[in-house]
Amino acid sequence: MITRSVATVDSLTWQEQLANSIRDPKQLLKLLELDSSLLDGALKAHQDFSLRVPLPYLQRIAKGDPHDPLLRQVLPLGNELLAAPGYSEDPLDELSSNPIPGLVHKYHGRVLLIVSPNCAINCRYCFRRHFPYQDNKPGRHEWQQALNYIANDSSISEVIYSGGDPLATSDKQLQWLTEQIAQIDHVQRLRVHTRLPIVIPDRVTKRCIQWLTSTRLKPSMVIHSNHPNELDTAVANALGQLKQAGVTLLNQTVLLSGINDSLPVLQRLSERLFDVGVLPYYLHQLDRINGAAHFEVSDPQAKQLISELMAILPGYLVPKLVREIPDAQHKVPLL
Ligand SMILES: *Cc1c(COP(=O)(O)O)cnc(C)c1O
Ligand code: SF4
Repeated sequence: MITRSVATVDSLTWQEQLANSIRDPKQLLKLLELDSSLLDGALKAHQDFSLRVPLPYLQRIAKGDPHDPLLRQVLPLGNELLAAPGYSEDPLDELSSNPIPGLVHKYHGRVLLIVSPNCAINCRYCFRRHFPYQDNKPGRHEWQQALNYIANDSSISEVIYSGGDPLATSDKQLQWLTEQIAQIDHVQRLRVHTRLPIVIPDRVTKRCIQWLTSTRLKPSMVIHSNHPNELDTAVANALGQLKQAGVTLLNQTVLLSGINDSLPVLQRLSERLFDVGVLPYYLHQLDRINGAAHFEVSDPQAKQLISELMAILPGYLVPKLVREIPDAQHKVPLL
């Protein structure tokens, strides 16, 4: 069954790959030859935040291993439903920095645009798993409001496309928006925060590279990779094209218990990132969103990992260990 999908996935467009994602927990367990005892919990957690895994990502998951680090990021588990102290629906209080639909202005000089409500994959630790996307789905006319907001604040020098996943929307839409932003003189930089090049590398189309690199705005992309197993040849090729076109590539990782909270994994991740043209940027302590408590790594353990990483890697391959704190003026370093 997987072999059949492997054979056919190459002939699908990225939109088809997106549409053909696995969304049924039972099917996922079957395809990956996992024990059916996982099903009950998976179905319950899936009710709260649904399962979603595109085929190109599925192909990188080992069969028969419930601890596979890529599987753990996407498989709903019963313990997501346990309430945990300090965990909530909006841990970053983003809603209070959401002045108009689709725009989050929290940090000096930078605004975040919620360009797409959709993601290509549902990561179980997602800090926006309960974000009210239905209130943040601007059409072109509503975008004008966001553009006016940016135009009226000359301190804004960088616009960040966020989501959901900004690349889950069409290149046509992204090109239009980028052209509008490029007309605002004080905006210098455009940044795209996306996991799509990791999840569906075919998303990095010629047209995508074109709108990203054909304006006067200096482009950067922050990919969200959490494990070296995610960075296969297809991902490397997609990133290579972006890099060659002049896009600055950075990576942001969430520190996740049982997935990447070990020195060898973090070392391999940094080294593999550099291999594929990407510099490590942030290592994030988890945002305390309901359902993600079982992924938490303690602060002392996180600091220990970074200290050990510093001892074995060049400084430019050591990400900054940070936490997002509501009301802080920037992400807060832990070390
Ligand atoms: C992380 C983040 C940014 C960008 O912060 P940098 O430190 O520039 O990477 C901007 N807005 C929001 C809401 C963020 O979470
Ligand atoms: S890709 Fe990012 S925004 Fe989308 S589910 Fe995963 S963590 Fe959340």
